[in-house]
Amino acid sequence: MQTVSWSELEALRQCPLKWKLAYDERWQGQATGTDALSKGSCYHSVKEAHFKALMSTQADPDATPQDRLAHAVMKAQERIDQMREANEYPEETVKLIEWMYVGYVERYGIDPDWRIMAVESSHVVPLYEPIGRTGEWQEADDFNMKIKLDLMVTDRRDRLWIVDHKSAGKVPTGEKDFQWADQFGIYQYGVWQLGYRPTGTIHNCSLSKPNKGDLFSEGDPEWKSTMKATDPEKRFKRTFMDRTMQELRTIQWEALQTFRNNRAALYHPRHPDEERCKWKCNFNDACNMGRRNGEEATREYLLDIGFSQEFRRN
Ligand code: SF4
Repeated sequence: MQTVSWSELEALRQCPLKWKLAYDERWQGQATGTDALSKGSCYHSVKEAHFKALMSTQADPDATPQDRLAHAVMKAQERIDQMREANEYPEETVKLIEWMYVGYVERYGIDPDWRIMAVESSHVVPLYEPIGRTGEWQEADDFNMKIKLDLMVTDRRDRLWIVDHKSAGKVPTGEKDFQWADQFGIYQYGVWQLGYRPTGTIHNCSLSKPNKGDLFSEGDPEWKSTMKATDPEKRFKRTFMDRTMQELRTIQWEALQTFRNNRAALYHPRHPDEERCKWKCNFNDACNMGRRNGEEATREYLLDIGFSQEFRRN
């Protein structure tokens, strides 16, 4: 049985060569601390501290909403201070995450409509395949999937939601923005397999690109009167999604098929895309080098720029 993940599927769907380099050969670069992945990890870590603190006080009948919020903010701030002291991330990243977190708390407070059921939980769940045309499904015996859930909450009507924290340079606006975001379908189906009955998923987005006016205020040497802060209404957006059971089954079945097809593949070609190769692939230059000079040049270039093969990584 092979355990796969959403990020592996995403890499494979973007480009088979990217998958081969990242997941088969396990090439990994040094994190700069200011790349999107590092910023995402840093923000997740602060949100984890925040929601765990809220969870720890939600059953306390004596804790007022103000107490609970103060406790959550204190725990999140402790995490931020710890990052600073340990130099886990560059100050530029920590400052950005602090700005995002403070805005998040101003916007949502203690999330009074939510009861927190789980924070940062990981599970391995089965994938299913149809049994011919019978309409029945059976557990696959070759692949299963690891899912990492940022948050599970129930709302005032006791409906269960799976929340995924995201950060983006532009918050989404359309309700259809996530129609094809299969991560949410795979996670919802996975939680169903764990025995829960989630109503749907929530894309919990925070803006990660501040204006200068967000960073400097009157009195700072850098401040100028022309600097504008971002409209708070445009910094956060929660998009609620529900999917039919047929849709969930199809999404996970197509994921299973993608992995099976890949295992049978003899060659992992490039799937170049002018935009995505630029901003969503850190093998960009090495890949181009290999195409110009022969495939071994890709690996030689990766070594030259400090990449290494990390086989202990999950
Ligand atoms: S740069 Fe593009 S084509 Fe090359 S490995 Fe990355 S995604 Fe694939």
